[in-house]
Amino acid sequence: MTAQVFERVALIGLGLIGSSLSHAMRRAGLARSIVGHAQSEKTRDTALRLGLVTSVYASAAEAVEQADLVMLCTPIGAYAGIAKSIAPALKPDAIVTDVGSVKGSVVRDVGPSIPVGVHFIPGHPIAGTEHSGPHAGFAELFDGRWCILTPPNAADPDAVDRLKAFWVALGSHVEIMDADHHDRVLAITSHVPHLIAYNIVNTARHLERVTDSEVIKFSAGGFRDFTRIAASDPIMWRDVFLNNKEAVLEMLGRFTEDLTALQRAIRFGEGATLHQLFTEARATRRSIIEAGQDTAAPDFGRHTGGKPPGT
Ligand code: NAP
Repeated sequence: MTAQVFERVALIGLGLIGSSLSHAMRRAGLARSIVGHAQSEKTRDTALRLGLVTSVYASAAEAVEQADLVMLCTPIGAYAGIAKSIAPALKPDAIVTDVGSVKGSVVRDVGPSIPVGVHFIPGHPIAGTEHSGPHAGFAELFDGRWCILTPPNAADPDAVDRLKAFWVALGSHVEIMDADHHDRVLAITSHVPHLIAYNIVNTARHLERVTDSEVIKFSAGGFRDFTRIAASDPIMWRDVFLNNKEAVLEMLGRFTEDLTALQRAIRFGEGATLHQLFTEARATRRSIIEAGQDTAAPDFGRHTGGKPPGT
């Protein structure tokens, strides 16, 4: 299906994801005009100066007027208030979507405010970096990455197809699933790994006082990759954990059991067990590279500002 060109797209939130959407939409010619809203005047001015939007509004409701595609790109904790405020200004037949990292809470917080005749189709591009703000975006962010759409059962199939074609034109592969399944999958592939990174960096930070900056000096041995993940936006990640509580706690439970098994193998010198588990884990890394979801470069992301190597 060829992607439709939207007359007016409203980006609510102009950080990493909002600005990348603007770059990618302009690269693909998907919008005649892109307008936006962010909470601070500084971000609004920057977005205008960078040419991410042609008009910027201090009010989200004003930004969505006449828009045929509205994309919520703020931390998910802000969604409920934004949805209430934009509801009366939404154009009939407009598509409202989002990019939030949790989907069940979006259905809960945004769904009830969407007027009849407006299409609400939550989405989540599985693409990002540890950088934030309007300067952080780039057109290639979504290239070759997955975007998951979680349309409610009653969603208009034509609107779902239009949004799907839009993401394909942005460079993504699209998968449709229900919101609860999304939240369980992302709990283990993204949310728990971020929690582990935040935790290990903080444990080391406490030790650092004892070891006098050796943690920084010798950080190449694995720790540095965790610090990159732990540099992600604290507000965004606070909201992810507050809104995907159940699935994260379930996956953390499993993780803790597996960690205990490793601890036991170390304690009792069970080399064969350790070797077996590490070999299986290594195969997962190979599968990710073979699926084109990362490169084998040992410094992936580190020297490219988070952009895929070669761009
Ligand atoms: P970001 O770079 O920190 O940008 C957030 C934007 O939202 C900023 O423009 C901010 O405006 C605006 N904002 C925050 N609170 C607001 C409010 N109450 N009203 C209006 N605007 C508000 O964040 P991001 O990385 O683009 O993340 C945005 C969304 O994408 C999140 O829901 C996140 O879950 C999802 N996501 C992120 C990634 C990732 O790797 N970062 C990947 C996939 C999906 P100010 O600058 O004025 O504060």
